Amino acid sequence: MMMPAQTATDFATRKPSKAALQRGVLPMPELEYTDEIAAETAPIYEQVKHVIPPMEWPFHAPYVAAINRLKKERGAVILAHNYQTPEIFHGVSDFRGDSLQLAIEAARSDADLIIQCGVHFMAETSKILCPEKTVLIPDSTAGCSLASSITAADVRELRERYPGVPIITYVNTSADVKAECDICCTSSNAVQVVESMGTDRVLLIPDQYLAKNVARQTDVEVLTYAGSCEVHERFTADEIRSYRRSMPDVQVIAHPECPPEVVDEADFSGSTKGMIDWVKTNRPEKVMMITECSMADNVASEAPEVNFVRPCNLCPHMKKITLPKILDSLLYMQEEVTVDPMVADKARQAVERMINLKS
Ligand code: SF4
Repeated sequence: MMMPAQTATDFATRKPSKAALQRGVLPMPELEYTDEIAAETAPIYEQVKHVIPPMEWPFHAPYVAAINRLKKERGAVILAHNYQTPEIFHGVSDFRGDSLQLAIEAARSDADLIIQCGVHFMAETSKILCPEKTVLIPDSTAGCSLASSITAADVRELRERYPGVPIITYVNTSADVKAECDICCTSSNAVQVVESMGTDRVLLIPDQYLAKNVARQTDVEVLTYAGSCEVHERFTADEIRSYRRSMPDVQVIAHPECPPEVVDEADFSGSTKGMIDWVKTNRPEKVMMITECSMADNVASEAPEVNFVRPCNLCPHMKKITLPKILDSLLYMQEEVTVDPMVADKARQAVERMINLKS
């Protein structure tokens, strides 16, 4: 079966990246679903068969096979965020996790070419931690409502308005914003970072809900900003209560980017890694993950005995990353992520302060 040509790039009409000039462009592989491709990708399909119907696999498999061959040829590693779709997450990635875990893996890896399957601030974070490597993102327009809610100029204004108050930035921000802040945090270590500052008051930006959820766990006064994740803020406490009425046996676990009244309705709240660990440790009969929809698919592939209830809120930015675009990245060395070296140096300090705190 010949697959439709989904690769959108017309390389000839675009200016090639520095990486493409250095490493060259590779020819487009055959994207036919043959018996050989079916056999080659069978072990991968075995892992995702609970979440990808058999009739869909012939569309994914030729890309999965081509990407896995090409990444070896390029000496690349592929990083996939927990919110990527299963055919990417389980099909082609070398490292999986949250944005910070991925950036740390990128720095540890011997590969000098990183393909970031996630949104733009994540690719920037990888570039900040490994400035000497080439970092590509399959679609540079994959943004984030949280990251775009605040600019470096906004942070400078906060600094003037609250002199002496440490500014902590959630990792979901641009390199420019990180460079203006004292330290980074993730959703799993935010309380620890807040308390490490040794002050009565901190600014925790830009996610107002994460900041409010953190404020309830510490005596430190946590000032915040008006940013929010468009995926997590859509969940409501009424919605959770209604699910519970129809399924009294369901366990509810929520991400702290959700509003506090939603977190109050949950049996557990934690980062994406915290939620995954909770499911793997507790193996509940039925669980509802109050977070981006693909994460439940990805965890379900590893815990098929757990019944996942999916109140499906998708992140439109994460969904811009597709197998055809990843293939384009490998063929045409696109789209290269760059960060001004001076900005990267300052942003790296904020990230490393947090990493050193962890250890
Ligand atoms: S899920 Fe929310 S925080 Fe994550 S990339 Fe999408 S908009 Fe940003």
